[in-house]
Amino acid sequence: MKPEVVNHKNFNLNTNLISKNCLSIISKLHRKGFQAYIVGGGVRDLIQKLDPKDFDIVTNCEPGQIRKIFKNSRIIGRRFKLVHITFPDEIVETTTFRSDSKDNEGSIEVNEKGRILRDNSWGTQEEDVKRRDFKINSLYYDPFKGEIIDYFGGIKDLGNKNVTFIGDPEKRILEDPVRILRAIRFAAKLNFSIEKSAKKIILEQKHHLYEISPARIYEEVLKLFLSGHAEMSYKILNEYKVFEILFPHVSDVNNEFEDFFLTAFKETDRRYKVGKKLNPGFIFALLLWPKIFKKSNISKNINFRNFYQSISEVTRKQQVITSVPKRFTSFIKDVWMHQPRFQRTGRKTLRFSNNLRFRAAFDFFLLRHSIEPNLKNDIEWWTEFRTANYDKKIKLLNSRGRKFAKN
Ligand code: ATP
Ligand code: MG
Repeated sequence: MKPEVVNHKNFNLNTNLISKNCLSIISKLHRKGFQAYIVGGGVRDLIQKLDPKDFDIVTNCEPGQIRKIFKNSRIIGRRFKLVHITFPDEIVETTTFRSDSKDNEGSIEVNEKGRILRDNSWGTQEEDVKRRDFKINSLYYDPFKGEIIDYFGGIKDLGNKNVTFIGDPEKRILEDPVRILRAIRFAAKLNFSIEKSAKKIILEQKHHLYEISPARIYEEVLKLFLSGHAEMSYKILNEYKVFEILFPHVSDVNNEFEDFFLTAFKETDRRYKVGKKLNPGFIFALLLWPKIFKKSNISKNINFRNFYQSISEVTRKQQVITSVPKRFTSFIKDVWMHQPRFQRTGRKTLRFSNNLRFRAAFDFFLLRHSIEPNLKNDIEWWTEFRTANYDKKIKLLNSRGRKFAKN
């Protein structure tokens, strides 16, 4: 297998974006006589003129040796071993070339469905590249030589805006169904198309996502929705009918909530772009809201019993698919529980407006407007109330029909 080797000058890369820590690791490995490259998202995003989230390194140096060379490192991973090299400002993931040969001692172990159970055999770059998911993720970059090594036409795919699996898409999806979510994520992030033949396979095999640990699916959902391309992720997840796999408890009402989701995700993406904090709990509160909304009839005449019941039921059922950490489930519940308080102002309104979760609940309330035009008056009232001084607040409360003393 002879790769194409392209000089990085052809891409006019902004090499200032490469992490200094990453460069120092590569240079040290080179000095010790090893090969070392930036691989994956770091190369892909540099070529795409994006600012890479992080830089992964791959080398022919084995984990035990990496551990010895770098004092600030530790070996992690169960399914496959890799090394985390720690710096004050970042952790650089450094992996060893992996092999795909089955007759190697300690090589991959697959179950009856072809799923990888364990793989821990080291290999060459040629072997390593075949194990990567997509052509666009299979480029190796040596920043010192200034060379990009391309075995499968990843550079061409970047130019044509394609996400193509390496090898047979069905086999690769059965090996690791999470690749379905990864394909969708890269298509959403980069505005690329997933190779045509993969569509039918994803539609047929998407249920295998249920066999993946809820912790891993949770992480993938966050990447889909909290990385600045939530709107696109939502659209593609729906196109491939994967949204209903991830959120089966809202799938029967999903269509009616399209406007709600699109408005909410546009706002989420806007916040990401201006560098505002995004709370995982908030995104799950949005994603699961349709069911609470429907069951409780909150917009018209709320049924509190159904409201509380649906809140605990939906969060509990969703846990089986995406294990949301406890601190976020309590955030989700608070944001929802606060919603009726915007529609019923009264004695406790003042105190509510100082609540720890008020701001998040209010942002959520604003987003509800897209499908509940009847909230217009309440939204205007709250928008004024929120920033008013104490006297004005009392006035506003009194204007709502009840009398409040000044103290
Ligand atoms: P991101 O910008 O999200 O970091 P990335 O492509 O770097 O994107 P990582 O999850 O950091 O994604 O993985 C680094 C590289 O490891 C990928 O580019 C890909 O080559 C390989 N890889 C990761 N996950 C898988 C997988 N499930 N199957 C095959 N290869 C994978
Ligand atoms: Mg990465």
